[in-house]
Amino acid sequence: MLFHSTRGKDSGKDFASILMQGLADDGGLFMPDYWPQVDLDEIRSKTSFIEIAKCVVPLFTASSFSQDETINIVESTWHDFEHKDLIGIKEVNSVSILELFHGPTAAFKDFGLQLAAAFFNKVLESENRTAIVLGATSGDTGSAAIDACKNYDRIKSFIMLPTGNMSEVQRRQMSTINASNVFALRVSGTFDDCQDLVKLAFKKRDFLKNNQYLLAVNSINWTRIIGQICYYFYAFNKLHQKGDLIFSVPTGNFGNVFACYSAHKMGLPMKKISVAVNNNDILHRFFSENNYSKQHVRETLSPSMDISVASNFERLVYDLFLDRDSSKSSTMFNNFPDLPIEFDQKIWKKKDDLFSSNKVNDAETTNMIKEIYDTHGYILDPHTAVAAVEAFQKSDSGNHFVVLSTAHPAKFPKVYEDLNIEISSLPASLSNLFEKDEHLHTFDADYNQIINFINLNN
Ligand SMILES: *Cc1c(COP(=O)(O)O)cnc(C)c1O
Repeated sequence: MLFHSTRGKDSGKDFASILMQGLADDGGLFMPDYWPQVDLDEIRSKTSFIEIAKCVVPLFTASSFSQDETINIVESTWHDFEHKDLIGIKEVNSVSILELFHGPTAAFKDFGLQLAAAFFNKVLESENRTAIVLGATSGDTGSAAIDACKNYDRIKSFIMLPTGNMSEVQRRQMSTINASNVFALRVSGTFDDCQDLVKLAFKKRDFLKNNQYLLAVNSINWTRIIGQICYYFYAFNKLHQKGDLIFSVPTGNFGNVFACYSAHKMGLPMKKISVAVNNNDILHRFFSENNYSKQHVRETLSPSMDISVASNFERLVYDLFLDRDSSKSSTMFNNFPDLPIEFDQKIWKKKDDLFSSNKVNDAETTNMIKEIYDTHGYILDPHTAVAAVEAFQKSDSGNHFVVLSTAHPAKFPKVYEDLNIEISSLPASLSNLFEKDEHLHTFDADYNQIINFINLNN
């Protein structure tokens, strides 16, 4: 299995190359050359998440790692989860909540980033090289990346945090890590400013030592998607007897939805994928009105979904709407956002087989949290609540809704204070955050200031 770019000019790459490269040379996103197929009878017969991951991950890694090497990584990579099978499933009013927040940073991003970090380290060891992780975060990516990489001496992580809509818990998860290879950089500016700085750094690369890798940890990295595909098969294993599955996914950059779509292409039967968004509704405008156009970011109660464009959407456009025609997708995305994306009606209608979308504002989000708490005593996090709205409205439709629960509510305490809901059980990883010292390095949104700091600490 090799990989190629959605924009056509970077192809024939093995797994290790696309892992270490992140974004393709032509600005596109890497895709597998074909969709490998999973044996559903085998999936049905498995009894744990790890056993299922062992069926999925090797399908993508064989061009660089032997079956044994991959299995060894899969067996050891996911660590510090508070649930014995990593994932919890709660049934609330005939809807299944797939709890993906039992990892060390209390958000689902641990699944993708721990897998990516383990493979990063494997490549670095075999090539005897080191790496810099440089990323920007508006929420949960940064803490999951830091946590996943902090135990690997060959990797130094520099994560930029904007002065924006991030909860104090989210910030402290990054600033209180006491490890000599981890640096949290507080940048006066917006998330977009931070992302621009990261993009510039990836272009210039002027701070890297000889032979050093610069690694991308945002959700365009295909290995994160692989880690996430695994839990859709896990959900199938546990829930297929309940009916045709509809996955309702709280969506920002579209990585989680694309993992769901990938699982479907690999043989997982499902009725629908519901793309749930907050007021940042670019994807809802596309799925309901055929209009994918960039607008300003709006701050909401579900900050990890506050985006202006959804990077991984390029993969769906390429695979589903354009039937993998890279010259068309290259033109389309090279011209975006100046030219919004809109398809001929016939092509746009291809979405109807698998996709629907739902937009949920802050008031509806808090109503949902309150309603489920009052009737069932279960506390939804604000992101999960966005995805739960459609599921609870339509749960009597004969299908079985699975809501992806992407974060633990304790990451967003302010929301619950305002609702007078007490979160009684904190995950261990969050319980002493407010007693620890913060180590934040403060900068203007200025390339040279930041690069000087990286140089000093590299
Ligand atoms: C990142 C994140 C999302 C959005 O996931 P995407 O893969 O970017 O669509 C949703 N909820 C939480 C809690 C997140 O951290």
